[in-house]
Amino acid sequence: MIVMKFGGSSVESAAAIERVAGIVKSRAARRPVVVVSAMGKTTNKLLAIAQTAIEGRREEYIRQIHDLRDFHSREARQVVPLAERAALDRILDDHFQELTELVKGLAVLGELTPRSIDAISAYGERLSSIIVSLAFRHFGMSAVHVDSRELIVTDKRHTHAAPLFSETYSRLSAALPPLTEKSVVVMGGFIGSTRDGVTTTLGRGGSDLTAAVVGAGIGAEEIQIWTDVDGMLTADPTIIPGGHRVKLISFAEAAELAYFGAKVLHPATVVPAIEKNIPVLILNSRRPECGGTRIVSDAVHSRNVA
Ligand code: ADP
Ligand code: ASP
Ligand code: MG
Repeated sequence: MIVMKFGGSSVESAAAIERVAGIVKSRAARRPVVVVSAMGKTTNKLLAIAQTAIEGRREEYIRQIHDLRDFHSREARQVVPLAERAALDRILDDHFQELTELVKGLAVLGELTPRSIDAISAYGERLSSIIVSLAFRHFGMSAVHVDSRELIVTDKRHTHAAPLFSETYSRLSAALPPLTEKSVVVMGGFIGSTRDGVTTTLGRGGSDLTAAVVGAGIGAEEIQIWTDVDGMLTADPTIIPGGHRVKLISFAEAAELAYFGAKVLHPATVVPAIEKNIPVLILNSRRPECGGTRIVSDAVHSRNVA
């Protein structure tokens, strides 16, 4: 089994989801569990909706919810099989109706709590994971959707909850391996729930942590983090373009780079992977043939930048 995590830009549109399907399909024999982020900038948009609501700007939040639904519907329709279009519409209706009720409640209260922020920001991954699982079927794979909130158990620290590892690992190892025998499993990153079943999130960028926790929980042979750059680079490409790709890096060095701002990887991500000695690969979903960066437990000696 392998874990393949696709970040927001890797699932931002129908074309991006089609690329993801191709990448996963060509690795189906390795029994992938796919972890996806919210589509594009959806998490930011959900947070903006919550903010507009508590400021009492009703027309504005209704329009924002409408636009977000349109965006999901437009992209999803292009990658969902004809026979499943009615089911897709129902799923979108249900989710957006529920979201609208929640947002109206916030507007009445005029207050945003960490718990309500989580309830709202979770919609991004709840939707993207369902859409991607339907898309995989469209592209000829057998795919099952699993609600991450049933497997990732966390503490109650809303907006930056920590997984309760032993409970989470036992749920993951019971549920996922049998499913991967016949199907590609698709689940949302970033989201979990408390023991009482209240939705939580792991903090911004938290889908990487979901991937690592899932990998550790099922004893995956590899965790692949698919993103929009060729791997870990020697400099942040948004600040200094033309940095070199690091081909091989130790867990300790990768954690340090992440800590000092290499946003390509959530710093806490490496911990569950180190503990179980599972290699982490960072790969480019727009250039799957590029070798990426391999993060391994032992120290690595120089001469490894491309
Ligand atoms: P995803 O949505 O796939 O999780 P992120 O935006 O979280 O992607 O992380 C990838 C981004 O990290 C890149 O687009 C790049 O701008 C940024 N980044 C910052 N520092 C580095 C670095 N040292 N190497 C690679 N990418 C970096
Ligand atoms: N969607 C969440 C965020 O934007 C989690 C993630 O993408 O890793 O922070
Ligand atoms: Mg990220």
